[in-house]
Amino acid sequence: GAIASARGLVKVYGSGETAVRALDGVDVDFAAGELTAIMGPSGSGKSTLMHCMAGLDTVTDGTVVVGGEDIARMNQRGLTKLRRDKLGFVFQAFNLIPTLTAAENITLPLDIARRPVDRDWFDTVVEAVGLGDRLSHRPSELSGGQQQRVACARALVSRPAVVFADEPTGNLDSRSSGEVLSFLRHSVDVLGQAVVMVTHDPTAASFAHRVLFLADGRLVGEVVNPTTESVL
Ligand code: ADP
Ligand code: ADP
Repeated sequence: GAIASARGLVKVYGSGETAVRALDGVDVDFAAGELTAIMGPSGSGKSTLMHCMAGLDTVTDGTVVVGGEDIARMNQRGLTKLRRDKLGFVFQAFNLIPTLTAAENITLPLDIARRPVDRDWFDTVVEAVGLGDRLSHRPSELSGGQQQRVACARALVSRPAVVFADEPTGNLDSRSSGEVLSFLRHSVDVLGQAVVMVTHDPTAASFAHRVLFLADGRLVGEVVNPTTESVL
């Protein structure tokens, strides 16, 4: 079943003459064990869709249910808790803390929330991310691909309902991109996570189980990737 859903999702920025209808009635479902890529031209509403589904932006109309909770009318405090307890985030800029080791960066969300680290899950994620002894390195001692893999492991460490990745390979060369995408795909196929990724990169989209296309705030197409199989 769906772990995150939107029905009739509308997002309008501003009001009156200058209002922008960034999302114009989107119905979508994201499921565990599925890597979904969202593509579309610049300004089509990709980031807005992700932000509305992830509790980073308020919704103008429609329903959004994430991890069993209706978040469309949740207050900021509730949204903060939802993001902390149920969601993981990966950004184009890796956003690691430079003074912490890779391992410390990975457990940071739990430390901030004062939640215990599930050691079995941590070990599973860390083994899958393939950083070996570089777990004790600081970000400046890691390549871009390694830093983004640390950021992906950090997004997974709380075992979130959904991981949202915004252009996760936007700053990476093709080889590093492949490493990051392989790990995200592994987290879906082997660890059973739900991952939603906004991307411009067709190679990144080729790692997805399905690709959704947005144009002018509407879903205009969906391709279930016929060639995908586990890449590991
Ligand atoms: P994409 O991620 O596909 O490039 P966005 O979701 O960023 O598209 O933007 C969709 C539309 O909403 C665009 O017309 C954009 O200019 C507008 N928009 C996005 N964020 C804001 C904002 N904070 N204020 C006003 N308009 C916005
Ligand atoms: P990998 O073999 O893990 O894919 P690379 O071939 O990109 O990584 O880099 C080899 C090693 O060089 C990495 O393990 C990393 O320690 C170091 N390295 C690469 N790029 C950088 C960088 N931009 N800053 C610091 N160290 C780097």
